[in-house]
Amino acid sequence: MSKRFNRKRFFKGLAIGTLALPFGIRAFRPVQAQTTGKAIGYDKKFKWKMVTTWPPNFPVLGEGCVYFANWIREMSGGRLDIHVYGGGELVPPLEVFDTVRSGAAQIGHGASYYWAGKLPSAQFFASVPFGLNAQQLNAWLISGGGLELWEELYADYGLIPIPGGNTGVQMGGWYNREINTVNDLKGLKMRMPGVGGKVLERAGGSPVLLAGGEIYTGLERGIIDAAEWIGPYHDFKMGFQQIAKYYYTPGWHELGTELEIMINEQAFSELPNDLKAIVKTAAFRLNHWVLSEFEARNSEYLAKIKETDGVEIRRFSDEILQTLRSYADEAIEDLAQSDAFTKRTYESFQAFRHNISNWSSVSEKVYYQDIEL
Ligand code: CA
Repeated sequence: MSKRFNRKRFFKGLAIGTLALPFGIRAFRPVQAQTTGKAIGYDKKFKWKMVTTWPPNFPVLGEGCVYFANWIREMSGGRLDIHVYGGGELVPPLEVFDTVRSGAAQIGHGASYYWAGKLPSAQFFASVPFGLNAQQLNAWLISGGGLELWEELYADYGLIPIPGGNTGVQMGGWYNREINTVNDLKGLKMRMPGVGGKVLERAGGSPVLLAGGEIYTGLERGIIDAAEWIGPYHDFKMGFQQIAKYYYTPGWHELGTELEIMINEQAFSELPNDLKAIVKTAAFRLNHWVLSEFEARNSEYLAKIKETDGVEIRRFSDEILQTLRSYADEAIEDLAQSDAFTKRTYESFQAFRHNISNWSSVSEKVYYQDIEL
């Protein structure tokens, strides 16, 4: 990991490297209309860099990116070779968007809400509090017009987004005091990023921004009273069960956070059609794999957390959830006013949410509530 990354030198080096390449874009185009592989550029090899917002080999998310690169290598017979960089290895995690945009890396993996500071609507493509679960969000993106909006948003930046995994429902976090009523949230210092943090603020709490690596110490030393991270698998590996007593459900702030693959449009356009199809197919495989992996590992590690002495799993009361829900509605309506595109995205999201909630309430909700599992 090069913490002292020299940006200037990197871009200078890259510019020289790019100019020194023996092939221009034209070289990738068919020389003549023939049906042999060679003539349509099938013998050309591509080397891509993939930058990610996750620590190297981070469970599920970082691992998934390595699998993604392997699948593409296998499917393309090595014609598209992607080197995966963990966050901080090539560029800091939060520079992934700009790095792929600039073409310094051809592809990236992250979560679109990291860019919500400059693209407020990007929040909807990752997660909003009391939004959609993984299955519903994928339905909006893939079959409900969400991805078209996302593509429209990223096109202005020369990027192509593809859904690249989902965390599934997250947990409501770790607490060292009981949260029985909304009043218990007053003055609560909690690691809670994004719009979830704004909701907590409306409830009288104080959201604290802490990077993943700082949460354990913050909670242990009492700098914060509570923290949310992901779900049983990642939380157990962070060791929160050793320093917090109550593990609350559900993760109302992240019911199913969608991850993203972003591709530099120019780099993508230079690929022959079969490699384009391979990249998209591998992305959809990753989307499926990440969610499946989260669900399987979370089940396994929930059992380990339950076996841990001194940890109690609690459910937020209906009163708390209903109150937070109304604050979330307000916070999301505020977000929707950011700009015309965010408003359009919000309207599409809301309309989809309304319909799919009706469907879910007569389908899966019945199964979960009324049938002894
Ligand atoms: Ca989280």
